[in-house]
Amino acid sequence: MVALRSDSPIQYVKGIGPTRAEWFATLGIRTVGDLLEYFPFRHESDRGDVAIEDLVPGANVTVRGEVVEIGGRRPALRCEIDDGTGTCVLRWFDQRFGGRGLFRGATVVATGRVQLFDGLPELVHPRVQVFEPGAVLLSQPAGPKRLGVYRGNETIKSPLIRRAVLTVLAQSHLPADEALPPRLLAKHKLPSREQAIRHMHCPTSDAELTRARTRLAYEEFLLMELAMALRRRKRLALQAGQKLHVTPEIEARIRARFPFTLTPSQDQAVAEIARDLQGGRPMTRLLHGDVGSGKTVVALYACLIAVANGKQAAIMAPTEILAHQHFTNIDHYLRDSRVRYVLLRGKLGKKERTETLAAIERGEIDLVVGTQALIQKDVAFNHLAVVIVDEQHKFGVLQRHEFRTKGPMPHYLVMTATPIPRTLAMTVFGDLDVSLIKQPPPGRGRIITKVVTGKQWETVMGYVRQRLEKGEQAYVVCPLIGREEATQKPEAPVRALSASEGPGAAGLTAVTEAYRRLSDGPWRGLNMGLLHGSLRSAEKLAAIEAFAAGRSHAVVATTVVEVGVDVPNATIMIVEHAERYGLSQLHQLRGRVGRGSKDSLCVLIAHGRGEKAAERLEVMAQTTDGFQIAEADLRQRGPGQLFGTRQHGLPELHVASIVDDFALLEKARQDAFDIVAKDPTLTQSEHQPLIPALKKMFGQKLALIDAA
Ligand code: ADP
Ligand code: MG
Repeated sequence: MVALRSDSPIQYVKGIGPTRAEWFATLGIRTVGDLLEYFPFRHESDRGDVAIEDLVPGANVTVRGEVVEIGGRRPALRCEIDDGTGTCVLRWFDQRFGGRGLFRGATVVATGRVQLFDGLPELVHPRVQVFEPGAVLLSQPAGPKRLGVYRGNETIKSPLIRRAVLTVLAQSHLPADEALPPRLLAKHKLPSREQAIRHMHCPTSDAELTRARTRLAYEEFLLMELAMALRRRKRLALQAGQKLHVTPEIEARIRARFPFTLTPSQDQAVAEIARDLQGGRPMTRLLHGDVGSGKTVVALYACLIAVANGKQAAIMAPTEILAHQHFTNIDHYLRDSRVRYVLLRGKLGKKERTETLAAIERGEIDLVVGTQALIQKDVAFNHLAVVIVDEQHKFGVLQRHEFRTKGPMPHYLVMTATPIPRTLAMTVFGDLDVSLIKQPPPGRGRIITKVVTGKQWETVMGYVRQRLEKGEQAYVVCPLIGREEATQKPEAPVRALSASEGPGAAGLTAVTEAYRRLSDGPWRGLNMGLLHGSLRSAEKLAAIEAFAAGRSHAVVATTVVEVGVDVPNATIMIVEHAERYGLSQLHQLRGRVGRGSKDSLCVLIAHGRGEKAAERLEVMAQTTDGFQIAEADLRQRGPGQLFGTRQHGLPELHVASIVDDFALLEKARQDAFDIVAKDPTLTQSEHQPLIPALKKMFGQKLALIDAA
């Protein structure tokens, strides 16, 4: 047989051919390399662990034998196997549950629970593997061997995949494309790629499997971190930025605008930013801090440095509400200053709009606030130097925004409120610089969190009413807008609950319905606002403004309030159907309260809940620390969900787990950055094999990270 290479089409594997190659393609397996890297999700033994004559009722066993008799009336199936010590019956009451593919003479390995029936041991609905006649009985290699069980689909099932894998593994040399420098394998005592691949498919022990996994996980991490190191190097080496001046006078003038002194965390972030702005390279910095930690002030500081240098700055928010809110804050700080700032609203009069845009283009406006869409689409800047991107609860999805500006590339600061462990942020977004705001401004009240069930709805609302009457303000957050929507959204399972479980019980609490039930019921006579996505912007702003000004007791809202609304007097957050939200979303929602000096209350109402949801609510009740919550979130959902890895151009990790293999990730990161420091173009012979491996992992995206 001609030796297969990893890029050989799979059809050349003995026993596959063009038709089956198409089946494999449905799993994304096109080449021999793809097949070898299609790892099993579990393993099973290819031999019995007990002789048939020794079977005792009630035991879970794996037996092996030859099919000597097959029959039974459809859809049932009855099959007798014999291993030389005795006969055992395999029985299916319906062939849809298994047994297909058995034939007289086949070797079968069957796993199941032993029963005694008519004097014979019997396995009902066992798991079976079918082998060629005599296949396994003849081979008796030393030690217990385990075979992979592979994820299949409608077209192709595990046994065929296994057979193809075994055929390739039978080659004395695997086309394993070793990419790692032998020096690193030795340093971490890792097996070669070929060994690792063999052991992933057919390990002889758990230890062997673990070592194989570790080796492949390390490889994934190393390549990922190499890409980061290269990308970072490229960014630092190539681009010219705008050099801004930061003098003590400028800093003093900026600080004088704030009615408080900056916290040590804010001071540090500001210092890091000031250093970047003076450095002559474009800043690409992530400003990372929990909700309410005081990022906005830091961002404004950066903008004001630009303005002091006679340049322009822009603040881009994800929604109009948030843009408006930033503007209100900024207005508060800058009202009687010489800084010229505008809010670029979606609904501007035509004349006003044309004039505003022209003024920005002439450089007569210093600071522009608006949504991302507006600023990028409409505005031509005269000399834009600093751009703030507020991403709130997305994690620093840094896209390259295109700006129409005459000057060179602006400095970037991305604000994000997804709290993730700092080490993890540095590691996963290692090509960005990260500033972290660790502690919130002083003098914040505590937040007490209570988890209740729908049955306690009346009691809770009655209690909250008393507090509202004494001048506190509350948010009530509900998942959906109207009833129709509840039926449209398939991802929102509507559980059947008893009618006693409160207003959410009949279905999901609709925001308009919750509003009505509260105003007709426990909150009759209170002043309430309504806030949801299908209102017009002006209506939304009016509701928020009334609430912020203290004219309404409560606002009943969908999760629009999640994105950064800041009303310090609001001290009560009630979340209906809290079981439906993820941890980071609950944390964001709770972050709307506890912003003033008074203590706050957060009530999470669960209407029926699964185990995972219960775990989440428990985490919420136990801590308000965003980092602890983030860690729990990471564990529950996995990093892909949390970061949207695709958007970052991060590779998909097949073997490695950022959470479970974190220590390994740190080692790989260190090694990767060392390699790039010593050999930035990967031209040393021991590093050359890394290049095709990187190309394979990143494909087209490699252009972004190419060293040269
Ligand atoms: P974030 O954007 O991180 O969610 P903000 O910047 O909106 O947080 O700040 C939250 C609140 O804290 C605002 O009301 C702000 O005025 C206040 N604040 C920010 N920094 C300080 C500080 N150093 N001392 C006191 N209050 C502060
Ligand atoms: Mg904010």
